[in-house]
Amino acid sequence: MEPTLEQIFGSYTAWKADDATWFINFMNGTENMYLLEGEEKALLIDTGYGVGNLKAFVETLTDKPVIVANTHFHPDHAAGNGEFEAVYMSKGAMLDEPSVYGEGAVPFDLNALPHPDYEKIFVEEGFRIELGGRTVEVLDVKPAHCNSSLFFLDRGHRMLFCGDEMEAAQVLMYDNSNNPEAPYDVKERLLNFQSNTQRMKNLAGEYDYLLPNHNGYPLAKSYLDEYIELVDHIFDGTAKIEDKLNHPFIEMDPKAPDLCRVRWKHSSIFIKKELLMTVYGTGN
Ligand SMILES: [Zn+2]
Repeated sequence: MEPTLEQIFGSYTAWKADDATWFINFMNGTENMYLLEGEEKALLIDTGYGVGNLKAFVETLTDKPVIVANTHFHPDHAAGNGEFEAVYMSKGAMLDEPSVYGEGAVPFDLNALPHPDYEKIFVEEGFRIELGGRTVEVLDVKPAHCNSSLFFLDRGHRMLFCGDEMEAAQVLMYDNSNNPEAPYDVKERLLNFQSNTQRMKNLAGEYDYLLPNHNGYPLAKSYLDEYIELVDHIFDGTAKIEDKLNHPFIEMDPKAPDLCRVRWKHSSIFIKKELLMTVYGTGN
């Protein structure tokens, strides 16, 4: 029997990573969400595809009132926002909005969720989410993977949540906001990506666990070095370009034939090849 859309996009598993932190996994292990409990409240980081069954699942994990935040405004992270009354996000979400609400972006009617007009609360660098005995700090991120990324730093539990700006296996660096108005300058994106990665590296003393939203966790801090170097090796023309993506899910995307994987050691990004070649080997 074929699985239903609900089974594909809305089958969650969860386990405790520490006494007050749940890792929630879906899409057959390729996507993660996080639930952080304090003494008074809990914080849900990301909301999945908008299947409509996430809030009920989260309520099986915590009985505390849940604050909701998006690492960024893409369909696999923010389409379920309408299950909740309010969501914290970057103001860059306005640029990435068509990726969630554009036609065909998700296979669910997001207007059918309980709060289609949920409140969007734009937060910036330094905003603190207080959960009671546990504080999560918001770090604003330069546009790289997308226009709307935030990092969430939990100094007490020594965790840094980095959304899709750093992933296990590869980082997606092609324009995916589906918004013709959103700016995408390949050189600027690469330099922003390097700067964001350097920032994670600079914060290394504040966390033990670097937690991305795809393909597994945690990531070693030394893995960041290869990504920082990758950008330099793109500009000096020594990074390796692979035309075969070796990623069956991304290969289903109509954008895939235009993409390549550019690699340095074990770090790699997916990027539009034509744009990559405008900066590859040009120096910085
Ligand atoms: Zn994602």
